[in-house]
Amino acid sequence: MRLKTFVVAAALAVASLSSACAMGGSQGGAMERSGLAIGTVCSIRIVDGGSQRALDEAFARLVAIENVMSANKDGTVVDALNKAAGGAPIKVPADLMAVLQRSLLYAELSGGAFDPTIGPLVKLWGIGGDNERVPEPAEIGAALRLIDHRGLTLDTRAGTAALARPGMRVDLGAIAKGYAADEVARILKDRGVKAAIVDLGGNIMAVGKKPDGSPWRIGVQDPFDQRGAYIGLASVPGGTTVVTSGIYERYFTGPAGEHYHHILDVKTGYPVVSDLVSVTIIASSSMDADGLSTAAFALGLERGMALIESRKEVEAVFIDSSRRVYLSSGAKAIFRLTDQNFTLAN
Ligand code: FAD
Ligand code: MG
Repeated sequence: MRLKTFVVAAALAVASLSSACAMGGSQGGAMERSGLAIGTVCSIRIVDGGSQRALDEAFARLVAIENVMSANKDGTVVDALNKAAGGAPIKVPADLMAVLQRSLLYAELSGGAFDPTIGPLVKLWGIGGDNERVPEPAEIGAALRLIDHRGLTLDTRAGTAALARPGMRVDLGAIAKGYAADEVARILKDRGVKAAIVDLGGNIMAVGKKPDGSPWRIGVQDPFDQRGAYIGLASVPGGTTVVTSGIYERYFTGPAGEHYHHILDVKTGYPVVSDLVSVTIIASSSMDADGLSTAAFALGLERGMALIESRKEVEAVFIDSSRRVYLSSGAKAIFRLTDQNFTLAN
């Protein structure tokens, strides 16, 4: 399982407050709960205005989202959509429709480098699961022939979705966690929470205003160091999300030491070959940040940065294998590099 390292960043953001126990509790006004959901460790730390009910509802929503959007589990709506591939459209709930629509937007914006129908390839490699392996070239060829976002059709009026050919599979691993973070933030606010940090396996969302009025400070993970080590800090207002896609946590090592990571190239069928090790997006919608972090990684530094610069109020921090850090134009005002082993490249 991939657990990106913003848990510590979240702790940093609220370092002045007394800590609560890891699996749920409250102390000094802060309340925290962590648990497994949507395939990762999720933690919610309420620092002002918390209630048990808010935490309960937020975690219940995570479970509900997983039960709709997981491609890894039998009985979800995505599983039903995949099983119905090549057949009649199936009814999908509004939340899934919204995520599918957004994923098709990022497929278009990235020229298909981001593709929600990547499922056959994700399943074949199994990266991060019990059956991860290097597939045979023929298997990769067969999976590639099934990947095409234009074969995913949505009818928003009828509330249905369909996959054009048998064997096609939707996989929302690159975007659904972001949607889930947005949903948790919405629920917390609806329940009167004034300030909180949400961390869904590295999708961080700062909710509301810190009690002392200072900006939230969220760390950008050092891809070469242990979880929680950060290369610098983004100082951001409430309602900001920080989301990273990287190749350093969900991967396996091949027999000759090859690094097989989980962001896949829809042209070759292999993990994306790149000088990049991570892309971090800073934005207000976590679903957008999640989609864009994966899309920008898949596109590489130049085209990925161009995509980010084309989106309003979306900023990015790219890190390459030589510890060079590339900032989008707006990131320069909010991100401060603190680790001197890294250099700012622009
Ligand atoms: P991101 O960069 O955001 O996404 C990478 C993931 O997107 C890959 O793992 C793959 O799933 C997919 N992907 C790869 N290449 C592309 C591409 N070119 N275009 C589009 N998408 C691509 N993990 C488990 O191990 N077990 C589970 O049971 C499980 N259940 C999950 C249920 C849900 C609802 C969700 C959202 C995730 C689940 N996961 C599970 C985790 C999931 O499989 C991904 O590994 C995880 O979401 C990766 O997120 P990330 O932020 O690390 O990387
Ligand atoms: Mg993503």
